[in-house]
Amino acid sequence: MRRGFKAQAERHAAELRTAANCSDLETIHLPRLAFHLKVGVLAGHRVLGDVQPFLDLHAEQPGAFSGATFHMDDGRIVVIYNPVIYETGDVLTPQRAQTHGRTRSDVAHEFSHLVLGHTLREVKSIAGHPFLSCDPEQEEEANWLAGCLLLPRPLLLKAARDQEADSHLAERTHTTVDMARWRMNATGARMQAARGRGQRA
Ligand SMILES: [Zn+2]
Repeated sequence: MRRGFKAQAERHAAELRTAANCSDLETIHLPRLAFHLKVGVLAGHRVLGDVQPFLDLHAEQPGAFSGATFHMDDGRIVVIYNPVIYETGDVLTPQRAQTHGRTRSDVAHEFSHLVLGHTLREVKSIAGHPFLSCDPEQEEEANWLAGCLLLPRPLLLKAARDQEADSHLAERTHTTVDMARWRMNATGARMQAARGRGQRA
């Protein structure tokens, strides 16, 4: 990753969260961020008109497709996410998608590509439909910024001070346990909180 990118990403995420009317400690409401970014968010089958390609793809290779961003001819930008739940193969309802950790990660990842101005390069075909994907460096950056958006450092530090378990943190903030664990490790929030406790003792 570019030098300084990680610190920049925390700042960038903080600005975006503010723009979405979300405090440092709150669970981010992604539709509000979408509104700020002037981006539409839709389940894949709402765009293709059929859920079957996503079910076929899931049967073939679960998790092969998470999300993609489309730049329409009329200038609109639409992020679509996979409506099929990776773990169960069920189809997400729009309500469930709002609180589904993996979907929120995928959507935040696509937003991150957009705000980072990543150029779309490679065309991949999934179930006969063309999708654009990015290079590995840009993928890494988008993952990092998405993590900062969903679980910013101040939120993690507060959770660490409260000695909140990763699983509880994930449930409360509508993220995955993997994401909660990864962000806790990446920021060193639990270590920082433990040092704070040591100093007060
Ligand atoms: Zn990506």
